[in-house]
Amino acid sequence: MSALPLRAREILDWLATQQGAMLALLQEIVDIDSGSYHKAGVDAVGERLKRFFADEGLMISTEPHATHGEAIHVRLEPEDGAGGQVVLLGHRDTVFPVGEARTRPFRIANGRAYGPGVADMKGGLVMNAFVLAALKRFGGTSAPLAGLITGDEEIASPFSRPIIERVARRARCVLNAEPGRASGNVVTGRKGGLFLHFEIFGKAAHSGGNFEDGISAVVELAHKVLAMHALTGFAPGITVNVGLIKGGQSVNTTAPYAEGQIDLRYVGQDQRAPALAALQAIVDRATIAGTTGKLTLRNEFLPLASSPRSQQLFAGYRAAAAELGLALDGEFTGGCADSGFAAAVGCPTLCGLGPMGARAHTPEEYLEVDSLVPRAQALALTILRLEK
Ligand SMILES: [Zn+2]
Repeated sequence: MSALPLRAREILDWLATQQGAMLALLQEIVDIDSGSYHKAGVDAVGERLKRFFADEGLMISTEPHATHGEAIHVRLEPEDGAGGQVVLLGHRDTVFPVGEARTRPFRIANGRAYGPGVADMKGGLVMNAFVLAALKRFGGTSAPLAGLITGDEEIASPFSRPIIERVARRARCVLNAEPGRASGNVVTGRKGGLFLHFEIFGKAAHSGGNFEDGISAVVELAHKVLAMHALTGFAPGITVNVGLIKGGQSVNTTAPYAEGQIDLRYVGQDQRAPALAALQAIVDRATIAGTTGKLTLRNEFLPLASSPRSQQLFAGYRAAAAELGLALDGEFTGGCADSGFAAAVGCPTLCGLGPMGARAHTPEEYLEVDSLVPRAQALALTILRLEK
């Protein structure tokens, strides 16, 4: 570390003094409910972050949306149009309902911070914000640096996906601040995921008076659910989960209708079409004669696939972390994220660079307080090294 150039030394030293300020900002934004469908809350978190950026002299622009939180772009300097940005990506929406932050507000116990979205990924947003501020304070970057904060990741980014893709197409790389693994590892690969809805149409009949006239959509659903789950392992890494079902009209009516929701995960882009075709075949094939089915794709995440350039980016991150005394590796996970959209347009992308945490989407979600500063430093040093 003694060999670090002065500017890098100044940046790392400044970040080292910021844990208290980081926690203060984190507390403020964790205590604002920002479920993906709660636009007012998602926007309120955005306003707080914009105030931070403005105070630090960073440039802000936004892309508004009628029902989702706006996309917030942050830059150190006015955009020159040349592209090649290093993009720090993050989402500010959570999976939690309105009232959650009041029920269990931000708190710290035994070195861990708790609260809705504290790790996934408000901790990562705070880290990105302070890294942007640090590089602005100490002379900018030679590779242009930008931040992108979205508000609909937890519902597969219906509004933000094209924005992420547009930004990633022109970017030098995308660094996504989803929570770091509990081990300290970052994420170098993710599965793709499809959320699908299926419907089954049968025929109602009085189940006492004229049972024989009925065609049960519920029984057909039972057959289909088993067949769908049996697709798990259909190719390496493929999983199928029917997570929600409902159907029927009354206890004494053969069910005219049933429906369910499917989460299909796969590893490689070449697995997507065959897996989807296999699901479609199950929906189209009637075990109970007279039923019909319909399959609809609702939401989709693309896989974060590794490439020679993303491996090089990871090697750079690992070297920077090692210089700071952090030993870590890259990990593959079945969880999906916005990083898949960036990687899918050919942009070198790393994920899970945020502070370490676990139990996302549950009340036990936590963030390791002492990882805030080191992860910010590792990210800043990675960016400085990229400039060469
Ligand atoms: Zn997340």
